[in-house]
Amino acid sequence: MRKLLLAVFVLLLANSLWAKVKISKVEPMNWWVGMQKTELQILIYGEEIATTTPEINYEGVTIKEVKKVENSNYLFIYVNIDKNTVPGKFPISFKSGKKTVITYNYELKARNSKKGIHQGFDPSDVIYLLMPDRFSNGDPSNDNHKEMLEAADRTNPNGRHGGDLQGVINHLDYIANSGFTAVWLNPFLENNQPAFSYHGYAISDFYKTDPRYGTNDLFVKLVDDAHAKGLKIIMDMIFNHCGSGHWFYKDLPSEDWIHQHKEFTRSNFRAPTVSDPYASKADQEQMVTGWFDKNMPDLNQKNPILATYLIQNSIWWIEFAGLDGIRVDTQPYPYKEFMAEWSKAVMVEYPDFNIVGEAWLQKIPITAYFQKGANNKDGYNSYMPSVTDFPMYNAISEAFNEKEGWSAGMAKLYYVLAQDFAYPNPGNLVIFPDNHDLSRYYETLGKDIRKYKMGLAYLLTTRGIPQIYYGTEILMDGKEQEGHGFIRKDFPGGWQGDTKNAFRADGRTDEQNDAYNFLTTLLNWRKNNEIIHSGKLMHFLPEDGIYVVFRYNDTGAVMLVLNNNEADDKDLQMARFNEILKNYSAGKEIISNTKITNLSVLKVPAKSAMIIELE
Ligand code: CA
Repeated sequence: MRKLLLAVFVLLLANSLWAKVKISKVEPMNWWVGMQKTELQILIYGEEIATTTPEINYEGVTIKEVKKVENSNYLFIYVNIDKNTVPGKFPISFKSGKKTVITYNYELKARNSKKGIHQGFDPSDVIYLLMPDRFSNGDPSNDNHKEMLEAADRTNPNGRHGGDLQGVINHLDYIANSGFTAVWLNPFLENNQPAFSYHGYAISDFYKTDPRYGTNDLFVKLVDDAHAKGLKIIMDMIFNHCGSGHWFYKDLPSEDWIHQHKEFTRSNFRAPTVSDPYASKADQEQMVTGWFDKNMPDLNQKNPILATYLIQNSIWWIEFAGLDGIRVDTQPYPYKEFMAEWSKAVMVEYPDFNIVGEAWLQKIPITAYFQKGANNKDGYNSYMPSVTDFPMYNAISEAFNEKEGWSAGMAKLYYVLAQDFAYPNPGNLVIFPDNHDLSRYYETLGKDIRKYKMGLAYLLTTRGIPQIYYGTEILMDGKEQEGHGFIRKDFPGGWQGDTKNAFRADGRTDEQNDAYNFLTTLLNWRKNNEIIHSGKLMHFLPEDGIYVVFRYNDTGAVMLVLNNNEADDKDLQMARFNEILKNYSAGKEIISNTKITNLSVLKVPAKSAMIIELE
């Protein structure tokens, strides 16, 4: 009798334990057959899931290892997927002894075979950067969501304004017709944070579109529609941190999943410590392990389980959505060894892809350090094909506001290019006059349309991949010092009931149309211009406030002339440029669409740019 009672008791206990086991998340939710890397990590999250043992019976799929972590609510299953595996669904059985406690149907899909995906981006492109919350509200019904903490409030510069993916889809024609060829969206994944959730950089679910922007499937539609209109899509990804609202931060797999500090420790934001040969360990550690902000837990990519999780997450989005490129947030802030491993893994799967790292650094050699193939003395190779060219941004911001001097004015632009020997691939740098973290370009140039045109003429003809921030085409303003909300204002006409609609010529002021027409004329000219995409570059020392840059190849040449003199029109003697001009007798000025018949003297108005296609 006693034995029987004990057996019943044990059985009841076991049953109550099994009853507790639940699965609330599986990530990635699916995978694909035929990837270069055949190993897959599957995260299983659920109450006491680690008390079970997973089993898979599906031809071609074998469990290599099951990793348990400190928290028994997690299991990490490492499987191998044979290249000949037939796509399909199969159960993962979670067993306790011989009993199956719970099962989960996992799907291996055939690879994404849509046409025109994974194109990469290159100097033939011009990227339009937009912030989904601030561009256009295509679906007012999703402005608020019952499970999301922050509600929409368009009167708050730092609040959510209701923009979304449908708003982007609605204006893909506007972007394409303007002459852009790629779109980089600031992050659109779930940010379930009580405040400042609009910017998107505090992600609370790496696999889920924020419901206030739409759904994962709507993002796929955005990519498909963009591709149909000749636009590439670049996704913004963050590896340094997650948001404090992230589900795994609330129930950490292990203490070392994030960087723990005795008291809150902010990063020193001194990215040069990463490449500094004399840096102290203390400074380097604070840079990399310090938190970006209190609401952004700093991820520890030295944890190999997390590192794999992050790499797979990127590959999942590329394959799922058919992305063309990635912009990596805060490239120097995660461990640089991890960033290199991540970049290498992505490029192995997608050799035609391109990735740009946000290397927000002031100096050229430190920026070059972070580009793939740099000749670094410490042997570091980032494997990051492209990085952001902040030194050029600095030069563009300053040069047109300055009086000419030995190293001021046009010399600033000259010296940026003169140091290109430091870069392994200067043509693959992303160049920009501003972005979502910087004062608006027009504001920086003192709202002087002449300077605005000169800077854009330089940007769109020099080497590199230009990126233009939404609203630059309509002279949107705002100082970074006033707060980030002021450099991320709503695009006029993006919301129902807006009094002005700057998506249309009749909704823009004369000055806005002047800017818009100038920019789009250049963009549409540039789009099919191989000399700008891949031609060589030769420039001449600035003299008398005039800077001349040539792009050329075997078939032709383009001449950029910048006159930075405030009030002096100049007669430019052209004999100095004979190395290029000797092959040509005439030209066409692109901005004014006028023929130039005399190539010995050129009239260049004060504070202006000329772009001459030589004939
Ligand atoms: Ca909305």
